[in-house]
Amino acid sequence: MPVSRPRVLLNFAELELWPAWLLAARSNATARQLARAQWLLRDKRDGRYLASLDADGRAQPIAPQTRHLATLAVPALKKALPRIHRPPSALPFHALEKRLAQLGLDADSYAHNSALARMPEPDWLQLAGFDRYRRPLWLLPSAARAWGQMQAAARQDGLVLEAISGYRSHAYQLGIFERKRARGLSVESILQVNAAPGFSEHHTGRALDISTPGAAAAEESFENTPAFAWLRQHAARFDFHLSYPRDNPHGICYEPWHWCHAPDYFTS
Ligand SMILES: [Zn+2]
Repeated sequence: MPVSRPRVLLNFAELELWPAWLLAARSNATARQLARAQWLLRDKRDGRYLASLDADGRAQPIAPQTRHLATLAVPALKKALPRIHRPPSALPFHALEKRLAQLGLDADSYAHNSALARMPEPDWLQLAGFDRYRRPLWLLPSAARAWGQMQAAARQDGLVLEAISGYRSHAYQLGIFERKRARGLSVESILQVNAAPGFSEHHTGRALDISTPGAAAAEESFENTPAFAWLRQHAARFDFHLSYPRDNPHGICYEPWHWCHAPDYFTS
């Protein structure tokens, strides 16, 4: 019996449920398990898969050490599936202060100094295709729709818009900091390039880093491409806006690649 192919990510404080069909199996044993799986329970921090859920609603741990977590999969799916019949809502903030403290930051002072708002995660996200690296691209359903329409309009004008990165969780953002610190970078230097966990527009599922084939990812030189000129002229029609123009009030460096859909959603 063919397994259906859900195109949504169900989001929780520390875990996610992913459609199993999106994943390439890493080993034969996992391949057999994934072939029967409909959903996978995933740790948001490190992206590790913890358990699979088959179409009959049976959960199985991926590794012996995730046995206790597999018991969470069935109740989580039952609780979260009805969400996809309504627009996503913001998840309550989880461990924001604790995560910042791990980096030696205080949430209020960071918010004040950066003039950045706390950005909640949505409780579910829509598959919006794949990024340049063939990773699933997750966005709010409204942003996913607008992104598809904007790409199609650009294509009609002979241009290809490519996604570099969409939704990122708070936990994933902390993981970026931890990996960079492990390579010897200071928190201060990382903050010049990455917003602190909980403060990136990417958490909301509305922000997109955009590039075009042949152009580097997340480089200022993107502003010299025809794709960027096209976005300047047409993106507003799809309610995509440049978040960090030159001399923006947040003191964030100029990011011609970073566009946000309907910026008032969730934060107004
Ligand atoms: Zn960005």
